[in-house]
Amino acid sequence: MSRIIATAAINGAYKLVEKAETALEAALGSNPESAAVEFPNTGYFLPIIYGTTGEEVKTLGDCRRVLRSARELLPPRVKGQHWVPYLGHTLDAGMATLWSEEVYEALKYLDPAKCPYTKTVAPTDSNLWLGAADDVIMRERGIEFVDGTAPGFAAVVGAAPDSKTAVRIARELQENNLYVFMCSEDGGRRFAEQLAEENVQMGWETRLVPFGQEISAAVFALGFAARAALSFGGVQPGDYRRMLLYNKYRVFAFVLAMGTVTEEWYATAAGAINYGFPVIADTDIPPILPTGVCLYEHVVPNVKHDEMVKRAIYIRGLKVVPSTVDIPVRFGPAFEGERIRKEDMQIEAGNPKVDLPSFEYCRTLPTDKVEDGKITVVGPELDALPEGACVPLGILVEVSGAKMQHDFEPILERQIHTFLNCAQGLFHMGQRDGNWIRYSKEAFAAGLRFKHIGTILHAKLREEYSAIVDKCQVTIFTNREDVEREIVAARAAYAERDARMAGMTDEAVEVFYSCSLCQSFAPNHICIITPEHPGLCGAYNWLDGRAAFEIVPTGPNQPVPKADPTDARLGQWRSVNNFVFEKSNRKLERFSAYSMMTDPMTSCGCFECISAILPMTNGIMIVDRDHPDMTPCGMKFSTLAGSVGGGNQTPGFLGHSKMYISSKKFVSADGGFKRITWMPRKLKDAIREKLNARARDEGIENFVDMVADETLATTEEQVMEHMAKVGHPALTMEPML
Ligand code: SF4
Repeated sequence: MSRIIATAAINGAYKLVEKAETALEAALGSNPESAAVEFPNTGYFLPIIYGTTGEEVKTLGDCRRVLRSARELLPPRVKGQHWVPYLGHTLDAGMATLWSEEVYEALKYLDPAKCPYTKTVAPTDSNLWLGAADDVIMRERGIEFVDGTAPGFAAVVGAAPDSKTAVRIARELQENNLYVFMCSEDGGRRFAEQLAEENVQMGWETRLVPFGQEISAAVFALGFAARAALSFGGVQPGDYRRMLLYNKYRVFAFVLAMGTVTEEWYATAAGAINYGFPVIADTDIPPILPTGVCLYEHVVPNVKHDEMVKRAIYIRGLKVVPSTVDIPVRFGPAFEGERIRKEDMQIEAGNPKVDLPSFEYCRTLPTDKVEDGKITVVGPELDALPEGACVPLGILVEVSGAKMQHDFEPILERQIHTFLNCAQGLFHMGQRDGNWIRYSKEAFAAGLRFKHIGTILHAKLREEYSAIVDKCQVTIFTNREDVEREIVAARAAYAERDARMAGMTDEAVEVFYSCSLCQSFAPNHICIITPEHPGLCGAYNWLDGRAAFEIVPTGPNQPVPKADPTDARLGQWRSVNNFVFEKSNRKLERFSAYSMMTDPMTSCGCFECISAILPMTNGIMIVDRDHPDMTPCGMKFSTLAGSVGGGNQTPGFLGHSKMYISSKKFVSADGGFKRITWMPRKLKDAIREKLNARARDEGIENFVDMVADETLATTEEQVMEHMAKVGHPALTMEPML
């Protein structure tokens, strides 16, 4: 253990505890002890403090108590002659630092008018700094840590020597699918500002997240990691050991320190090392090479800028398999969220706002009709089009394979959106005959053309779906008459698919499919996906499960035989229960496919919605994760998610997808859709058509209008008043409890 590092980290910790104490006293000068302290829209309070101590910091008075604990945790200062500073002392100093920094940052939210953060998902025209991520962001992004599209994050502290180097490092991190969390400054320069100088698009969508100008903003990154453990890992607040170990083994994060390492940086880095996150620095500081708290080295100095990312990935023990798509721009999920504004656009194709036909369609052909790798552009290529042009678009993907089935076509077709958006400077929206793409001027200048749509789709479909796709050819149409001709067959196929899926019922199949993808975060969680009950994240339906099993027979989606029914009303089968018992690490003995009251499915944390019983209404409310406000059950989505998630079975509460709400099997054992008494207005509008159609089948017209929303009711009593007014069916149903 370096004496220099320990000395600096402990000194830094003293400074930062004091800084937070001073800020707190200033806040108490103009606010009572009871003044509310919180990060926006979160059920995790101040998440590092909550995760490590279980303390629910809600007021200035609570902050005072936490800072007292932080001061008590500070180790003795290092004296010239005494060699006391060992790793334990330094780590304690790091934790005291994080608590103090978290309080210090939370105090910035006390006066909304003075808050330095945008509280948005991307920088605004006048402010680069986003501040704390709310729970909506946490849940949306958390799924990427679950499914592996984002293996971790780099916390970038300081600034690169120049803006071009900053862009190179950021792009390399993005290409490795990592999030980039930025804070602090070096010599008046900041990494995020350097990216802004180069017009790099930042925000959660592009995984380049400017948190804050001070080193204390590093707590937003570490708080995100703490919430990952609490939200997806089933770690209980205060179980600091499990929280830190969870991060060490499951969240692949590291710190890139660029510039002069101050005592405050050392102290914060010591906090990060507690999580098992190593520090890679570009300056000549003492190393900490032995392994222990981190998987490999803890502090690695003097790394050249063009080696920093590779070195960090190696030291953190992260295995990244870079994609090998041969196109002239960068490619990776981090570019998925890029938007191309009109002024940056070279051309667009298929914009639905303009009268232009467009489609994308995947179909299976006999093997002799597919020439693997053949890419054809029918109509003008990009070079033949003037800047700003808008043209029709047809993307026809034809595949063959011994194991290919028609049911897999929509699954492959859905990937077009994901794959094309991974190309830097290519933007894709919509699906089927509502698709739309834009090329940026930069991508065009780099050489990206229409033909590369084919290159991307061929490479990715062959790479990720090799078990079912033996051959793939792609044709891109950019002439109106060609698109109008080809679209006829595409539309006929869409209609036929819709009819097939709509007719699928649980009764008609012999097997369901499991999904255990979320077990990396919620070890006991298992989704059972049936034709009428999709995965609770909304991303996987029964056909997806079946295709995924065909593609990777040993993967997270396994067939679950549906045999030996024990309770048809609840949806229980002995074979399913046996499967769930084994796959939930023997934690769950029974599982009901159709009930939220008796043995409901576990909830991992990725659910789109939560249903919760509202006892007074004899019904349930549903809240989706986009609704940040209070609900009639007295909890916000984030608080509900905290209590329901983590792989627990919680009778009376159920995590589920939006799609499931209009399913015939939606909590059918408990009375079905007729129990729904409250939903946020936006959710009502999003599912209005389907839910009304479902209700019409049972003789109820305009059911969605019978459901209260936040504009009509915010308490259970008000929900009941609305129900009485509209004659809600739950009023006459048998008691739920
Ligand atoms: S289907 Fe279930 S287990 Fe699979 S990713 Fe979605 S929520 Fe997680």
